[in-house]
Amino acid sequence: MNTSADPSGGCGPARSTQWTSSWPTERPGARPVSRRVWLFDLDNTLHDASHAAFGPTSLAMTDYMVEHLALTHEGASDLRQHYWNHYGATLLGLVSRHGVKASHFLEQTHRLPGLEQRLRTSAHDRAVLKRLRGRKYILTNAPRDYAMRVLNTLGLAACFDGVISIEDMTMFGHLRPKPDARMFRYIAARLKVRPSDCVLVEDTLEHQKAARGVGMRTAWMQRYLEGRYRGAPWKPGNEHANNGMNRREVGVHPCRNPPYVYAKIKSIQTLLTL
Ligand SMILES: [Mg+2]
Repeated sequence: MNTSADPSGGCGPARSTQWTSSWPTERPGARPVSRRVWLFDLDNTLHDASHAAFGPTSLAMTDYMVEHLALTHEGASDLRQHYWNHYGATLLGLVSRHGVKASHFLEQTHRLPGLEQRLRTSAHDRAVLKRLRGRKYILTNAPRDYAMRVLNTLGLAACFDGVISIEDMTMFGHLRPKPDARMFRYIAARLKVRPSDCVLVEDTLEHQKAARGVGMRTAWMQRYLEGRYRGAPWKPGNEHANNGMNRREVGVHPCRNPPYVYAKIKSIQTLLTL
């Protein structure tokens, strides 16, 4: 059952958590009980972002492009989609082609008034996350402030050892968000584990393909995917599948079991058995 954030959830008392350094550091003297590192995507993996955030975020991005690139609304919408298709993230296209400052774009497009009232998770998910052995990190292409708003509102912040947000995914002065394979290798190195010790829990197949390519294991979270995004093959007349197959959509693949997916899950609880 979905409930709003519950202060008595399975991760202990709800508290507002802020990690002061960009990269999580090991606790002094701590001995890990498991070498396994869980890398959790945030949106549409731990909560239903399609309901809570994606619509307003897309509108804000289009409005930003209208204002700063002097485009029509339709032109901005098309260009935003083009950059998503080509770069895997609208931000990367704006930075590389228009010199947009990433921090300004992220701040302007992730204000999302009323977000907290739309967020949902379950006490059960919080309890399972607490039981999951190994280190757990959020790995999101979203900005840190947004990720912390979501985690704190849902009472999930205390379930994780740290948050790796898009601000942390810079190499040699260039943004390298998911699905950049170099970044996946770098993350494992920074966390002092082998890629094979890492499990990426994600709804986006492109990200899993890259992670698997560097040796990570992958769990495809399908709970919040709409029916057309569960590996359904293209069918004539199915405009959703047709559009999806031509775009970097999150769950589109010509077969239902992409070879780089280690496990398909619809519940966080299933991770306890992996
Ligand atoms: Mg996602």
